[in-house]
Order: sequence, then C-alpha cells, then structure tokens
Amino acid sequence: MSKGVLMVVSGPSGAGKGTVVRQLVARSDKIFLSVSATTRTPRPSEIHGNHYFFVSKDNFEEMIKKDELLEYAEYAGNYYGTPSAAVDKMLEDGKDVILEIEMQGGLQVRKKRPDAVLVFLIPPSMEELEYRLRSRGTESEQSIRERLAIAEKEYRNAHQYDYLVVNDTVDNAVKTLQAILTAERCSLKRLSLDDMRYIRTAP
Ligand code: 5GP
Repeated sequence: MSKGVLMVVSGPSGAGKGTVVRQLVARSDKIFLSVSATTRTPRPSEIHGNHYFFVSKDNFEEMIKKDELLEYAEYAGNYYGTPSAAVDKMLEDGKDVILEIEMQGGLQVRKKRPDAVLVFLIPPSMEELEYRLRSRGTESEQSIRERLAIAEKEYRNAHQYDYLVVNDTVDNAVKTLQAILTAERCSLKRLSLDDMRYIRTAP
C-alpha cells in the first residue's frame, strides 16, 4: 500500500485555516488532522486532545529533549509542535495527514520530509485578515498587532512553499486542497514500482 500524503497548511492567523482544514477532513475518511501540542492557554471552546494537547512548558521541553516532535516553533510567546508518532502511524496506514502549522515549522517539515507538500492559505486581502482577527473577539489588541506583523513576514517567505490557496470561500478553498491532494497521490515522485504494479483504483 502506498503511504499517505503529508500536507502542511500554513497561513496568517485569521486566514481561516482551522475552518478550512476541519471541513477538508470532515469530507473524507482518508484524511486526518494532526493534533499539535502547545503551551498556549486554551480558548473557551477548545478541548484538550481535540484542538490541541495543552501542556506545560516543562512537558513541552521534555518532548523536545526526547525528540518526540516532527517540528516545533515558538509563536507569539508560546511553543507549538507536532508529535511525530501519530503522524507516522497514519501515513504508514495510507492515510493523508494535514499539519495546520505556522511557517517556521512548515519549513522544518520540508527539510525532514522532502515529500511533504506545503500549502500557503491566505485570505482575499490584508484588510479582510484584520477584520477576521478582530471579529473573532478572542485576541487582545497586542495579540492582533503581533499576529499581523507575523503575517507580513510569512507573506515574504511564502515562495518557499509549493502552493498558494486563497480562502475566498471555505468551499472553494476545501475543493482546491482536495485537488492538490488528488494530484499529489498520483505523483510518480512518491509511488514505488510496487505501488504502480498493484494499484487497481486511482491512488
Ligand atoms: P493559535 O494560537 O491561533 O491556535 O495558533 C497560532 C499559530 O500556531 C497558527 O499559525 C497555527 O497554525 C500554529 N500552530 C498550531 N499548531 C502548530 C504546531 O504544531 N507547530 C507549529 N510550528 N505551529 C503550529
């Protein structure tokens, strides 16, 4: 069986990444979302083990030491990272795995897993981004300013990614991500000779 596709989805905070990737996984039983660990405080609606594993700084540093993270980064004063074991298990089982992570982490994945596909998801404009961040009502003014400054930096580095997807509507963005996954599953770069001999349906 061929391995699943590892897809990184990054983009500015407020681009709607969370909504888009959750829709993407809800529409398929072959696509899974990796649950990250973070030292950030949970927002009121967030559930431990579903949105994130909320851990202490000490626990997080322990995971780094034990080399349990595929990638990690510090973002707006907190640690965020991807536990590797769960991701590898899903890929081995032929499932596609989505990492919804910021760009420093995405670029670490690029180095460690050259076959990962990196997607930069953006809102239709910077004005729309600021509007979305404010209307979410969960961030302080300082946090909004910080997130907009990080967004500027991420746009400048976006050319290191493979694909750009505009989140004008959630449905359009989800369909574009599905199309990218379909293309990647057919890519000869990731299929072995055995995969080619034994595939009976579209990968
Ligand atoms: P938030 O605090 O809004 O949930 O997330 C802040 C940023 O951290 C977002 O850009 C999100 O994609 C990113 N992020 C979430 N999980 C991870 C992770 O495991 N690794 C990295 N590098 N970034 C993450």
